[in-house]
Amino acid sequence: MDTLLRNAFIYTGDAQHRCHTNGALLISQGRLQWVGDEADCPETSDHTAARVVDLGGRVVMPGLVNTHTHGGLSLHRGCCDSGNLFQWAQTLAPHTSPLTLEDNRWGCYQAVLEMVRGGITTACDCTRYGAGLFASVAAEVGMRAFGGAMANSPALRPNGRPNWPLALEETRQAMADHAGDDRVRFYLGAHSPYSCTPELLVEVKQAANQLGLPFVIHAAESREEVEMVQSRYGRRPIEHLHHLGVLDARTLLAHCVWLDEGEMALLADTGAAVSHNPISNAKLASGVAPVMALRARGVPVGLGTDSMLSNNALNLFQEMKFAVLLQRAHHLDGHALSAGDVLAMGTREGAQALGWQDEIGSLEAGKEADLVVLDIDHPLGLTPERVLSDLVFAAGPQHVQAVMVHGEMIFEAGRFTRVDEAQIKAGLREHGLSLSNA
Ligand SMILES: [Zn+2]
Repeated sequence: MDTLLRNAFIYTGDAQHRCHTNGALLISQGRLQWVGDEADCPETSDHTAARVVDLGGRVVMPGLVNTHTHGGLSLHRGCCDSGNLFQWAQTLAPHTSPLTLEDNRWGCYQAVLEMVRGGITTACDCTRYGAGLFASVAAEVGMRAFGGAMANSPALRPNGRPNWPLALEETRQAMADHAGDDRVRFYLGAHSPYSCTPELLVEVKQAANQLGLPFVIHAAESREEVEMVQSRYGRRPIEHLHHLGVLDARTLLAHCVWLDEGEMALLADTGAAVSHNPISNAKLASGVAPVMALRARGVPVGLGTDSMLSNNALNLFQEMKFAVLLQRAHHLDGHALSAGDVLAMGTREGAQALGWQDEIGSLEAGKEADLVVLDIDHPLGLTPERVLSDLVFAAGPQHVQAVMVHGEMIFEAGRFTRVDEAQIKAGLREHGLSLSNA
């Protein structure tokens, strides 16, 4: 069934940041068939589309892409809000180590509902166990998922039980369970250069190659990590990963805060992508990632919220704004990152980081109809400059009126269309109560 969305202010998110101030989008079989000025729309005059929706001049933008999160950890939001990365991880371990698959599943509900409400249509989720859980919850709600698990070596990660090759088996099973569902993709991951042996890193990357899957890892998150990896292996984290042969165009690295010039060149040369998590990096006192230097070298940089334990909101509007503020405050440069730069990171570049850029990340004919409708008005009227500025510096989930994935409204006027939010919340409360009394 064809759908025509008309009377919209469209921010396409294409490479030129094109806007259509009085725009229309024609959607057929979940994809954008046509995007442009309403006056030029082939379907406007004769209204042959089966469904015509008047958006009343609202703003439409591409669905936001969260390139790094851990949905399964959402139940313990706020249980530890202090300490740098390693201190924090140690304080958290008694809470997160005993988590069951059922806890993980409820955490994913919490995460998915919050993300969709905030205009996030795709998320890369990382877990230790239950590689398919996030994708199955996301699929139920209608959101797009890039799911998978990160292997770790128990000897290098206290409190860790072995999860490899279990993660491989779980991922294969999840791929079979979601076969034919274009909204779901998977990767194979390893936790980090410091919690995985070199042998494990190579084994996971080779398995990913065999299955034709991307490889995801945390890397160069804190200065302590750099020192630890350097003293163990004689190389900095990115050099170490390159030496092991795990960096290529199908590798996504979360954080990358501590990089030297040589490591940035390695990322650019191999085509690897970075997930920038500015709020998590600041909260855990990890530092400020060299985002502008990476982008100047052509490294795709997406944005990530990280988990509800290190953020604690899964809100990419906050992430976009904070990414700009952090770079400007850090470099004492009021021109560091523009609204357009960071919108690209939250959409098109994020899609590129996941290797999904042919299908999602901008509103262009041929791509998936993943979009957000926002109730934004401006006292002086909407212009492209004001809309770009508002999307980054003034907007939030409170402005999200509707969210569409694959041409289907999955959230509209405060309601999820596929699931009963009240019922899920009641389940979450009940499950949370059983946890807090355990
Ligand atoms: Zn992470």
